[in-house]
Amino acid sequence: MAAGEQCIFVITGPSGVGKGTLIRALRQRIPKLALSVSATTRAPREGERDGVDYHFLSEAEFERRVQEGEFLEHVHYAGASYGTLRSELQQSIAKGRPIVLEIEVQGARLVRAALPEATLIFIAPPSLEELRRRLQARGTDSSEKVAQRLTLAEQELRAQSEFAHVVENDTLERALAELEAIVRASCSLLQGA
Ligand code: ADP
Ligand code: 5GP
Repeated sequence: MAAGEQCIFVITGPSGVGKGTLIRALRQRIPKLALSVSATTRAPREGERDGVDYHFLSEAEFERRVQEGEFLEHVHYAGASYGTLRSELQQSIAKGRPIVLEIEVQGARLVRAALPEATLIFIAPPSLEELRRRLQARGTDSSEKVAQRLTLAEQELRAQSEFAHVVENDTLERALAELEAIVRASCSLLQGA
């Protein structure tokens, strides 16, 4: 990415692989990195806050924003709608901050088409079995939802070769170090940060 450009990072990969965990840790190491807060129609999980974890919208409000062209990308995933609001990117551009988007694979493809300069990073699990274990251990999804997410994960894992960077989230420390190195190397805004 050339100097003076905005740095946009897309972290993708199957649900439960550890994207959120890695991004939280990455942002502790690189506080300048902004996070795009997505919109969704799914119900908040315990402890999730509106405007912080997601913008939680009704189906009607989500659809209204689609019609208004407010989304950079939006998809239907596991029974709900999810989307990246253009305003999230605009705010970080205005502040000169790099931004990270945590989104699933179809959305990552849409961002790649819309913003070819974005850096795409696929987070892969050590195995499907370990992915199942993490989804179950997180304890936020019913057994049907876990099964649904694992079925989607099999398709998503086949897409990993489409992405410029693939980081295996085996141990958190190792994966985080690899992710941090990719992010720093790809972004002139982070020189010295
Ligand atoms: P995602 O955001 O991709 O859906 P999460 O960040 O919510 O995934 O992680 C899913 C679960 O896996 C969480 O319970 C998290 O603590 C755990 N986890 C994340 N990374 C690792 C890792 N490297 N080793 C073991 N467990 C992990
Ligand atoms: P969850 O319901 O577990 O929070 O998210 C389900 C999936 O949707 C995850 O893989 C997550 O990365 C993805 N996701 C979250 N926000 C967005 C978004 O704005 N766009 C897209 N395409 N996917 C998203």
